[in-house]
Amino acid sequence: MSEAERLAWVRSLGGGQTWTCPVCHKVFGMRYYYERHLKCHQAQKDHQCPYCSFRASYKWNVKSHVRNKHRDKPPPP
Ligand SMILES: [Zn+2]
Ligand SMILES: [Zn+2]
Repeated sequence: MSEAERLAWVRSLGGGQTWTCPVCHKVFGMRYYYERHLKCHQAQKDHQCPYCSFRASYKWNVKSHVRNKHRDKPPPP
């Protein structure tokens, strides 16, 4: 299936409406799949340590990082 064919197929699923992922620009024909797909980007290290460049997949990773590496700083909310 070519990309053009895939896009035509995707559009046909959602009655013409499509959703494009703002992160990787993948096109979805159904909102359900689009929203489910967005979660896969959110799961990618989008929790940033407020005190250094450390990033983690989960908030609690950042919290434990702050507790271990920035003992003099208050933990992030
Ligand atoms: Zn994406
Ligand atoms: Zn840090």
